[in-house]
Amino acid sequence: MLSQAIVEFGGPLKELETPTPVPQGTEVLIKTANAGVCHSDVHIHDGHFDLGGGNKLPLGNLKLPHTLGHEIEGEVVAIGPDVKGVKVGDRYAVYPWIGCGDCAPCLRNEENYCVKPRQLGCSSGIPGGYATHVVVPHQKYLLDYGKTAPALAAAYMCSGLTGFGAMKKVGKLAEGDEVVVLGCGGVGMMGIQFAKALFGKGPIAADIDDGRLEAAKKAGAKATYNSKDPANAKKLMADTGGGAYAVVDFVGSESSFAFANSIVRNKGSKIIIVGLFGGAMAMPLPLYPLRALSIIGSFVGSLPEAQEMMEIVRAGKVDPIPYATRPLAQAGQTLSDLRAGKITGRVVLTP
Ligand SMILES: [Zn+2]
Ligand SMILES: [Zn+2]
Repeated sequence: MLSQAIVEFGGPLKELETPTPVPQGTEVLIKTANAGVCHSDVHIHDGHFDLGGGNKLPLGNLKLPHTLGHEIEGEVVAIGPDVKGVKVGDRYAVYPWIGCGDCAPCLRNEENYCVKPRQLGCSSGIPGGYATHVVVPHQKYLLDYGKTAPALAAAYMCSGLTGFGAMKKVGKLAEGDEVVVLGCGGVGMMGIQFAKALFGKGPIAADIDDGRLEAAKKAGAKATYNSKDPANAKKLMADTGGGAYAVVDFVGSESSFAFANSIVRNKGSKIIIVGLFGGAMAMPLPLYPLRALSIIGSFVGSLPEAQEMMEIVRAGKVDPIPYATRPLAQAGQTLSDLRAGKITGRVVLTP
C-alpha cells in the first residue's frame, strides 16, 4: 500500500510503500476511494495546535511517520474471520472517532470522548485515509451513505458530524425557542441544514459577512443578522421576544462569544462552542447560576449520532456542500494551500 505520510512536522509529506495489512479478528480492510482534507490536519502536520497569544498546545506522543486523514470513504477489500454482515466490494463511509471500547465514555457510547482514543488519522498515531488502504477495527464503524456522493460521504464524517453533534446538544425546543447558528462557513452551513431536520424549522443565522448570510438564507435560515453591528444584537433580542434559547458558535472567538452572550435569553439558555478560532473569556461566576446559563463545548459526535446523521443524509435532507477532488499525491500541497487560506469548500483526495 501507498501512503502520503508526515515524516517531519511541518515538512513535506513523503510517499511511503508498506505491506498492505491483512485484517485480523473483527478488522475490515478498506481501499480508500475518498479522503477529505480537514483544517485540523494542518495542525497535526504542524505538530501543535495554536492557542493564540503565542501559546501552543503540542501533540505529545505522536510518533512519525504518521498518515493523516479522518474523513474516509472506500470499498471493503478484505475482512477478518470474525466480521459478519459486511462483504468485499461494499462501500462505506468510515466513522473515525474510535475509542478503546473499555473506558467510561466508551461504555456510555461516547467514543469520541475516549480517554485512550484510537481515532483514525488524528493525533493518537493510528494511520488514516491519506493512503490507498485503511484498517478499520470493527464493522460497526462502517456507515451506509445511500445515494450520497461518495466524496461528500467522507466529508460528513468530520465537518458534517461536527455540525450535527453541536445541534444535538441544543436538545428539545419548546414553541418560541429559537436556535442561532453563529458563523456560516462550511460547518455552520451543515449546522443550518441539520437544525432544519432536527427542529422542523430553520434556525436564525448570524455572521460578519453578508455574502455568507445570503447563502445561509438560501440554505433555509429563517432570519439573518450581521453580527459585526452591535445594534443587530438588540434587534435580534427584540425580534425573538427576549433572546435565543441556544446559540451554536461555529467561530469560537472572543468577539463571537461576546455576540452569543448578548443574544441569549436572560435565563436558562445555552451557548454551545464548536469553533476553534481562539481567545479567552472571563465572566463573573455568580452570573452562571443567576442566569442558569450553560456553556458547552462540542467535539465532533458519537457513533450513535453519526448513525442518526446518516439517516438524515440518506433521506436526502441535506444539500451537497461544494467540494473538489485531487489525487493523493497532492496531499502535501493541499495542506499547504489550506494553511495559506487558498481553499474554499472541501478538498477530497482520491487515492
Ligand atoms: Zn476534521
Ligand atoms: Zn475508551
